[in-house]
Amino acid sequence: MSILAVAELKGDSLKKISRELTSAGRKLGGPVVALLINGTDAHANELFDAGADTVVKASLGEYSPQGVANIVAAVAAEKGAKVVLAPHSIQGKDYAGRVAIAMNASLVADIIEVKGSDSAVEVKKPIYSGKAYANIKLSAPAVLTVRPNSQEVVSGYAGAKALETTSAGEGAVSSKLANVEMSGGTKVALTDASIIVSGGRGIKGPEAWPMLQELADTLGGALGASRAAVDAGWIDHGHQVGQTGKTVSPNCYIACGISGAIQHLAGMGSSKYIVAINKDPDAPIFKVATYGVVDDLFKVVPALTGEFKKVLG
Ligand SMILES: Cc1cc2nc3c(=O)[nH]c(=O)nc-3n(C[C@H](O)[C@H](O)[C@H](O)COP(=O)(O)OP(=O)(O)OC[C@H]3O[C@@H](n4cnc5c(N)ncnc54)[C@H](O)[C@@H]3O)c2cc1C
Repeated sequence: MSILAVAELKGDSLKKISRELTSAGRKLGGPVVALLINGTDAHANELFDAGADTVVKASLGEYSPQGVANIVAAVAAEKGAKVVLAPHSIQGKDYAGRVAIAMNASLVADIIEVKGSDSAVEVKKPIYSGKAYANIKLSAPAVLTVRPNSQEVVSGYAGAKALETTSAGEGAVSSKLANVEMSGGTKVALTDASIIVSGGRGIKGPEAWPMLQELADTLGGALGASRAAVDAGWIDHGHQVGQTGKTVSPNCYIACGISGAIQHLAGMGSSKYIVAINKDPDAPIFKVATYGVVDDLFKVVPALTGEFKKVLG
């Protein structure tokens, strides 16, 4: 039996979560088969380096959740994979349920830890908006969607490196994507970013975004926002972090003028380091912060940017 990790691309790049999935597959003992849809040999090499023994390339025309699910289920059957790891991304959430139905498998979404073997899996996932964690034991077959940035990435794995191509195609598809309209978007995709600088009502207005964006750019990070900032019309909903926005798990989340409401914490509470800048020492965000600065963000953010520029060049 084997573990099937479904890779995901963004434009010409392999998303980091793809390498997280092959690495997570190694924790289950492997062998790890990575499914690469519309990817290149260079993408395959990245997957080999991050723990894949086999990479199966597949082709798909227009994206559809049914089409992807049909390919995933067919490759899982070809390879005898009883555990499928998919990204907990917009696409992963879109097709994972269909894969589980096709494989008659259990589905657990948004996991942050996985261990066990390819026949009995133990996973951990946040529940109640991140207030608690559920540890779940399940037997194979299982489909698991994994939260981006939650897994360590293996590098330098020297496995069999078998590169194959499957003839499995999209199969019968009853709905087709008509077109995609891009919203404002961010320079760095929020859910993939390893650093996020986020602004809340405390930034007072949209004029403050360039100040936060400069800090984000200096650190190679992305710009996030609280719902209060989004509802005020200061920024597009694509940037919203929280229960009704995006779930993120960066290495570092810098919350500027955000009080730390439970609905916001639901979207960023699993960040590795949380830095809070807030002038209210009693703001709830300080309860989850690794580092806290009690001061005016309009003083602290430019000072931080200046210091990072000195250090990072
Ligand atoms: C069903 C539901 C879903 C929701 N979903 C989400 C969600 O997805 N995401 C989300 O974020 N919220 C969500 N909310 C809203 C949430 O409850 C809060 O209202 C929201 O997160 C508050 O945003 P905020 O922290 O920016 O604003 P506030 O709570 O108003 O906090 C602003 C903070 O800025 C600080 N501040 C002010 N001026 C400065 C300064 N100059 N320097 C430093 N600090 C300063 C203040 O001390 C304060 O702590 C949801 C609510 C509901 C009911």
